Order: sequence, then structure tokens, then C-alpha cells
Amino acid sequence: MPIDATQPYDDENIFAKILRGEIPSTKVYEDEWALAFEDINPQAEIHTLVIPKGCYVSWDDFSANAPDEEIGGFIRAVGHVARAKGLVEPGYRLMANIGAHGGQEVPHLHVHIFGGQPLGPMIMRRG
Ligand code: AMP
Repeated sequence: MPIDATQPYDDENIFAKILRGEIPSTKVYEDEWALAFEDINPQAEIHTLVIPKGCYVSWDDFSANAPDEEIGGFIRAVGHVARAKGLVEPGYRLMANIGAHGGQEVPHLHVHIFGGQPLGPMIMRRG
């Protein structure tokens, strides 16, 4: 069920629990700013999630409220994971769902990295 991305951060969301080590994940990468792990329900050959360690509901919250250093660290982590997965030469797709129309289900900012195959049309066609 899509969330309202304007709500305050909920400490009990599933990615907060992953960050605290309360539930398992298949970790791909971790640094000071970010954690990357495999999506539990992959939608492509490669489907990895990258989340900031800070408490941000969405891209909107993050871009408005995170310090520059944290934003830079997170963006670099996304690039690092894509390179480490060998996705630069064949190409890949980044996606961040925000709120109801975006179909966001987990209220902790995450970037999806899709790759390993041609990814088809960018979004659902109109009409
Ligand atoms: P979104 O619709 O952008 O909020 O995407 C949430 C994503 O989180 C979905 O692709 C889910 O498959 C994924 N997901 C949910 N729970 C877990 C989990 N415990 N470990 C890894 N991925 C998860």
C-alpha cells in the first residue's frame, strides 16, 4: 500500500529495522552514509536497493533537509554500487518512488538499481 510521503519519519519502518540489524538483509555495500542490499522481491536480474543511513522519508525529505555531505555520500554510494555490479557499460536504471503516485511502499528513502537485462519502457504508458 503506497504511503503518504509527507508524514514524519516512522522509526519502525522495515528499512530502519534493517539499518539497526533487527531483521536480516543481503548486504551488498555499506559505508558511513549508505547501506545497499538486494531487494527481497527482485523485478530484474539485478535489483539492489540503496538507502541513506539517516532518517529520511523520501527523496523530497532528503533533498530538502539532509546536509550536503550526507547527500554527496549517498549519491556516491549509489554510483559505487552500480560500478561494483558491472552495470556502467551495459547500462542500468535508477528509480526512487515518492508517495502515493510514485507507488512508494517503504517510508525510508531508497533508490532502486535495476540492471542485468534490457529494462523496457520507462513508465506505464498513458491511456
Ligand atoms: P517502494 O515501492 O519503492 O517503496 O519499494 C519498496 C521495495 O522494498 C520493494 O521493491 C520491496 O520488494 C522491497 N523490500 C521490502 N521489504 C524488504 C526487505 N525486508 N528486504 C529487502 N527488500 C525489501
